[in-house]
Amino acid sequence: MRGLRSLVFPPSCPLCCLEESEGCKECLGSWRIAPSIRVIDSIPIYSPVIYDLRARSVVLAAKERGERLARTFIVEAISSVVERIEPVQALALVSIPSSKRALRKRGDDFLARVVDEVVAKDPKRLQRLSLLDFKFQVSDQSGLSMRNRAANLDGSLEIKSRSTQNLMRAPSLVIIDDVLTTGSTMRAAIQALRIDPSTRIIAGVTACRSERF
Ligand SMILES: [Zn+2]
Repeated sequence: MRGLRSLVFPPSCPLCCLEESEGCKECLGSWRIAPSIRVIDSIPIYSPVIYDLRARSVVLAAKERGERLARTFIVEAISSVVERIEPVQALALVSIPSSKRALRKRGDDFLARVVDEVVAKDPKRLQRLSLLDFKFQVSDQSGLSMRNRAANLDGSLEIKSRSTQNLMRAPSLVIIDDVLTTGSTMRAAIQALRIDPSTRIIAGVTACRSERF
């Protein structure tokens, strides 16, 4: 039905709802802004967009409903930061994996697709490395308090065992997520990657950040 609908009605901008087949350039530009920086475990995490109600609706449209234009917003926000990080250096982008539950629900790894689109903009410099896995099934985050969320994710990620040999020659790593809320997912990813001493993590990037940061 979604495919049929988009044939009849051109897709509309997820922010201003104007019909735009290529995405609304003004609204897209509002997601390519200078990022805020928060340091987690001595790694700078860059996040351009404040996760308010409008941003939340864009992320949900992209993630839960698979809307391509909404995903473009997340790709643009992340790309705008990645373009500025050591612009001449090769980078490997490591996305936070989807939980098994999310994979079952959505049928694909949302962030891996986002990162593939970011890489496609500069394939000579960028690559995606799939290095992380969930160690155990994490509980659903919604409905948990901040402290319980952190406990829920603490140590939840691990480095895939078969990836260790590749890391010797891998370029600097940048961890990618969609939204920075408590920072516990980023922390779990940093901890997991640091288990291999040959990794060099230089930054984390998320499209959105909660207003507290
Ligand atoms: Zn718009």
